[in-house]
Amino acid sequence: MAFGWIDEQAAARRRAGLVRTLRPRPADSPLLDLASNDYLGLARHPEIIEGAAEAARRWGGGATGSRLVTGTTELHGELERELADFCGFEAALVFSSGYAANLAAVTALAPHGSLVVSDAGNHASLIDGCRLARGTTQVVAHADPDAVRKALSTAKSPAITVSDTVFSVDGDAAPLAELAAACREYGAGLVVDDAHGLGVLGDGGRGAPHAAGLAGAPDVVVTVTLSKSLGSQGGAVLGPAHVIDHLVNAARTFIFDTGLAPAATGAALAALRLLRREPERAARAREVARALHTRLTASGHEAVRPDAAVVSVRAPSPDQAVRWAADCRSAGLAVGCFRPPSVPDGVSRLRLTARADLTEGQIDRAVGIIGDTRP
Ligand code: PMP
Repeated sequence: MAFGWIDEQAAARRRAGLVRTLRPRPADSPLLDLASNDYLGLARHPEIIEGAAEAARRWGGGATGSRLVTGTTELHGELERELADFCGFEAALVFSSGYAANLAAVTALAPHGSLVVSDAGNHASLIDGCRLARGTTQVVAHADPDAVRKALSTAKSPAITVSDTVFSVDGDAAPLAELAAACREYGAGLVVDDAHGLGVLGDGGRGAPHAAGLAGAPDVVVTVTLSKSLGSQGGAVLGPAHVIDHLVNAARTFIFDTGLAPAATGAALAALRLLRREPERAARAREVARALHTRLTASGHEAVRPDAAVVSVRAPSPDQAVRWAADCRSAGLAVGCFRPPSVPDGVSRLRLTARADLTEGQIDRAVGIIGDTRP
């Protein structure tokens, strides 16, 4: 029977306790939120909401077409110029999601005959970019510049190395300066996904590449999402102007996708302007992450030292991770829960996100609930 195999898979998933379900988030949720990626607490900021509303009133509910046809408004151009300027790159290109931005950057920069060196801990969207690219992918050990060097030494030209700047599950940072140095030795490009770095790392939230001294480098391309610290939706690629022009002409997720909705564009622009005015939000998000980590480890939890705003707490098993997250929720705390297949077997986790707007009292409450519900 058509699709019968799906039921077998579903039964296996149920037996393994790995079924995923969707739960609507109430607009006025009473839960303390350490699950979202709203690192700077901007998603519901009045200026961001007004940025979205004003853009929708002026330009309508949707972009109406692809960027090359009717989907580019002046807001898209403003956002691209201001993002590039803020992060220190020559040019930027806005996409309908960070996922689409990653697919674009990797596929357009890895033509037939090229090599893509990819960190083993990379986000699914970079992995899918590698799968779609015409070049050959070599996966290397996590955060290991020597492994990158070794892979590049076998490479034909052109070659790129792709890596998250902050890894989304454990919250650890990539050794960006060393990766850039390894790439330069072999004339390779470096493509990094700063989804979890923008707004959190670097001077005033200018991102991990800026912090690593790579802003504006001719051989570095950065992808970002507008959906985490900027509290909106969408993505962008930043880099040298000729690379951005190439994406406009060659990246399929740019050319064949409807442009980012005006409301999301307006919200991201408002968030970026607010971040320029209130740069202390970035440092506060990092401070909250360190406070969560310090208090969790002091109370006996095994937590990865956070390099940005993600704090990962080890759970004994996938089942216990799910139950732990559910118990936290019953006690009033929303946390993320990572288990296979999102992470490898044996490393299930609670994923907590620090927010710049969390108070000391809320941090204490969160740590208390996590301790009280520990499996
Ligand atoms: N890269 C990383 C590292 C991410 O965590 C995410 C979001 N989960 C994305 C890319 C995708 O971004 P978006 O949600 O904007 O598609």
